[in-house]
Amino acid sequence: MLEPIPFNKPFIAGKELFYIAQAVTLGNIGGDGHFTTECSRLLQERLNIHRVLLTPSCTAALEMAAILCDIGPGDEVILPSFTFVSTANAFVRLGARPVFVDIRSDTLNIDERLIEKAITPRTKVICPVHYAGVGCDMDVIMALAKKHDLWVVEDAAQGVNSWYRSQALGSIGHLGTFSFHETKNYICGEGGALCINDPELEERAEIVRDKGTNRRQFYRGLVDKYTWVEVGGSYVPSEITSAFLFGQLELLDEIATRRRTLYEFCRQHLLPLEADGLLRLPIIPEECVGNYHLFYILLPDGPARDNLLAFLKEQNIFAVFHYVPLHSSPMGQKFGYREGDLPLTEDLSRRLLRLPLYFTLTTEEQLRIVRAVADFLRRPGVPRSAKVVPVVRE
Ligand SMILES: *Cc1c(COP(=O)(O)O)cnc(C)c1O
Repeated sequence: MLEPIPFNKPFIAGKELFYIAQAVTLGNIGGDGHFTTECSRLLQERLNIHRVLLTPSCTAALEMAAILCDIGPGDEVILPSFTFVSTANAFVRLGARPVFVDIRSDTLNIDERLIEKAITPRTKVICPVHYAGVGCDMDVIMALAKKHDLWVVEDAAQGVNSWYRSQALGSIGHLGTFSFHETKNYICGEGGALCINDPELEERAEIVRDKGTNRRQFYRGLVDKYTWVEVGGSYVPSEITSAFLFGQLELLDEIATRRRTLYEFCRQHLLPLEADGLLRLPIIPEECVGNYHLFYILLPDGPARDNLLAFLKEQNIFAVFHYVPLHSSPMGQKFGYREGDLPLTEDLSRRLLRLPLYFTLTTEEQLRIVRAVADFLRRPGVPRSAKVVPVVRE
């Protein structure tokens, strides 16, 4: 049996433990010390973002965003159903109703052409998710938000160091969120950040992040006592995780370049299968520069996907799929959604498979993966057409 190729291996850049030792030596391992500040500064400068506040996770950053948008019972939030649960939970936990919109067949991002129809007098937020680190059509989304006076919260969990028309993902909406979970491109175990692009939200964001207190203003000498001023939570990460993260963010470009090489290798080797209609490869629109967060393929149908997954496992290659659409989950059903409501989301999520893509993947391992995919798809009995829904753009 060949060595297993896991789905993910967390990448260690090299200096993480050294920086953690330094954080401990500096004597402050609570929040907002040297490394938390340095990570924020690095992200602000490199990605040209007004203000970045590190958080314990992207989920936490989304929760903060929902508080900052004053979400309450009866409000509606527009988002894709093809996303991770946290995108919806952050708003639902404050009483909002998720309004799910179908996705585009090319990027699998929310279909911006369907958003306006979903807007009602109760809509408060549009929450686009940049799937695979490829940007949603933010020009259209921002114009709609302006017209209808809505907040835009970008779920850029997968989009750290990705770009849309020369703007970093996460820097375009009023707020944006990043994830540094161990499965993402830049990691610290569990971690995240809130990007504040509307300066008017900055002061409140600091308060919400620090248990609803004005501690940060107090430290800066702006107020003479430190007290409870707002509803808040505990959204400051420890210096230990920030020190780890700094070791990764220092190599922002190196990590991006490596992932691009791995992604292109995989793509080049699978192109002949796409040409024969056996699968569909990811599409990155011209206006976007991705961060090569994940490599997915779309198979002809659900059974072909499931069978390929099992076939790869027999070869000791661990691929995965996602997402179980939120609208057809038990929670989605509680909001009145049914199977059939979002045809593209349902079709594409059944046919999608993610291949291993991590920094230390070797050429030999990549060859094993692409050859196994080809071996499977070229077998007799596998459907010959990856029934790829044509992309209709007007
Ligand atoms: C990973 C992910 C999250 C959650 O990130 P955490 O840091 O694990 O909380 C949210 N949304 C999307 C789209 C993600 O991929």
